[in-house]
Amino acid sequence: MAPAVFNTDVAGLAGQAGSIPVRLRHLLPATSPMTEPTRPPSVDAVARRLASAGHDLPHPLLVDAARQAIAAGDHSAADQVATAVARDLLQRVVNATGVLLHTNLGRAPLGPGDPATVGSYTNLELDLGTGERGTRGAGISRLVERLTGAEAALVVNNGAAAVLLTMAALAGGRDIVVSRGELVEIGGGFRIPEIVATSGARLVEVGTTNRTRLADHARAVDDPHNDVGALLVVHRSNFRISGFTEQADLADLARLGPPVVSDIGSGLLDARTPWLSGGPPPWLAGEPAVRQTLEAGAALVTFSGDKLLGGPQAGIVAGRRDLVEACARHPLARALRPGRLVATTLQDVLMAHLRRDTDAIPFWRMATISVDQLRSRAAAIVADVSGAGPTNGTGAVEVVDSIAVPGGGTLPGVELASAGVAVEGDHAAALRQCRPPVIARVELGRTILDLRTVDPSDDYRVTEALRTLARP
Ligand SMILES: *Cc1c(COP(=O)(O)O)cnc(C)c1O
Repeated sequence: MAPAVFNTDVAGLAGQAGSIPVRLRHLLPATSPMTEPTRPPSVDAVARRLASAGHDLPHPLLVDAARQAIAAGDHSAADQVATAVARDLLQRVVNATGVLLHTNLGRAPLGPGDPATVGSYTNLELDLGTGERGTRGAGISRLVERLTGAEAALVVNNGAAAVLLTMAALAGGRDIVVSRGELVEIGGGFRIPEIVATSGARLVEVGTTNRTRLADHARAVDDPHNDVGALLVVHRSNFRISGFTEQADLADLARLGPPVVSDIGSGLLDARTPWLSGGPPPWLAGEPAVRQTLEAGAALVTFSGDKLLGGPQAGIVAGRRDLVEACARHPLARALRPGRLVATTLQDVLMAHLRRDTDAIPFWRMATISVDQLRSRAAAIVADVSGAGPTNGTGAVEVVDSIAVPGGGTLPGVELASAGVAVEGDHAAALRQCRPPVIARVELGRTILDLRTVDPSDDYRVTEALRTLARP
């Protein structure tokens, strides 16, 4: 734009709208009398009323809400429009559902992060030794290697991206062998046959839904019509099959020749859970872990960052160095790489695992807290709420034993003993209206607030929310 435009006194000209040159009109506020000459009440007045009524949205969004309501012929509806706009924005909620990895609530909660790296410039792609351009993710790769025994690791946007990239890099234009018992769908439209097709590889199905033997895989590998780039093993992470079942051993599959990619999904780094002082909790039994899957012979393992790893949404490919490098070189890697925010928060979580600092990993802290601790927190909440006066019509608030679940498409059927607070009646909608919203579950006509998924520093928010219910 020519400097002359900036030098023009637009505000002064606004008073004499008729004389403003056309090229300057866009500089006037959209709500000036010139562009909105005769609308009563003016958009601007309604927007200002919304602001003084406590809607703390940025002005342009208040203007939009005002405009929408006025266009619909009812400017008083602007409040509801603004409320709806605010409700759609991301905000903190208190998860009192007892589902630790709640897909609707962002899966694993994150710690506060290291303020020194989260907001500032970082050496994302700078080698501080040489001053040259560095490799993004080199430091994180080393942490994953140390935690899992992998030779190398690569971080992408999510688990689905990790599978897509490995399939494309190892078997694009070639064949991938998968058992018919593992052609699964994991929540949110992640379907193995579709991911394989999208990667440009051809799916070779072997075996049956319930039984697939080593010989089935071997026949597909040996078939001269096939050009097998990889064998894909997919963990049935959100369902179980039982009864007359059989599947090939990973170590045996690894001996067939083509690299075995094991999509374990949930991202348990090591079955021995060295980051937990008490050792692995019994409910983890049978869950595949990265270290042990690589030891059993998988060439690559793919998993999510925001399930049992307890980090941000991310996908990780870990295993043989040459194959990880092939993934990193594939053109899709550039499209699937995460940004700096994910890299820094993932690094924090991996460092906490290495330091064995369970407290710094909210998922593991919540998963391992004792039921007794939960019961005494519940008792304190009940005392606080009851002390605040009669509970008008909401019925008694009481301590209850409850069942929490890992959730997030992990550990199907696993239940964790838990405790919380129960109130007679269905108050889920009212609790969602609190600030911050409290997300509870309703069981047999009672509202249950499970404390296993509530950070202790949020207990007072639960108390506050329950008090609002009690108010007339
Ligand atoms: C969760 C999961 C995925 C998908 O991971 P996202 O991070 O949700 O994309 C893929 N495979 C398995 C086995 C999973 O459990």
